[in-house]
Amino acid sequence: MAIYPQARVMLIAQANQGEAILRNRVNFHTAVTDASSLYPYFSQPDRPCSHFYVAENGVVEQYIDTRWRSSADYEGNDATISIETWDGYGRVWTSGSPPPWNAAQVRSLKALTLWILRTHRSIPPRLARDSIPGPSSFGLSWHRLGIDPWRHPQGMHYSTAYGKICPGDARVAQVPGILAHVKTDTTLTEDNQMLIIRRASDGATFIVIGGRGAGVKNTADLSAYRAAGVQTVNLSDPGYSEAQARYLTTA
Ligand SMILES: [Zn+2]
Repeated sequence: MAIYPQARVMLIAQANQGEAILRNRVNFHTAVTDASSLYPYFSQPDRPCSHFYVAENGVVEQYIDTRWRSSADYEGNDATISIETWDGYGRVWTSGSPPPWNAAQVRSLKALTLWILRTHRSIPPRLARDSIPGPSSFGLSWHRLGIDPWRHPQGMHYSTAYGKICPGDARVAQVPGILAHVKTDTTLTEDNQMLIIRRASDGATFIVIGGRGAGVKNTADLSAYRAAGVQTVNLSDPGYSEAQARYLTTA
């Protein structure tokens, strides 16, 4: 179970997309809505659902346990924790870009993001640069990094839409402020996100998550790192990222 202690917990059972083995990034979204809750919308069948919603007054609703995948980030769903945010569409703005997050939202986004990185320590405390499978897309990210025409040509699609600005320039400009808050926790280090691939003598292939995994050379090493708490993923496990594996096997 990974439930944010400050959240208004409103789990939507059918939104659960299976276990998220890898967690590489947080994706910020803007919801293009004036709704105080996305629960009624997300509760309908076949609606891509995010893990969280941050409302106008800063209330955080949680729809999916972060242990599970959400469906808000298309090719990034396997390893992305998604946060939707109120933007007052139809009342506060009707055309152009969403306004910046208000003060209550910024406070909530800082606290929520810090909790996510403390809970899922494979997500590094830095800004993602693109949606390419691998380290450059890890960290604090946003939807349009994986939306054309902003998407890097080698990047994953976080949406099939074209030109969707989510979450908009004003909100993208606020992400470094959220990161600065996260970095006040000095136990969160870049080291957590180093990924090492290893082929065991039995032919099984592993992703080892954690900088301490750098020294893995044999199965005895692997056992020792696992015993020390380094997260490992067996590529034969259901739900691993094909794109991730391709990156790792060619890096
Ligand atoms: Zn979005």
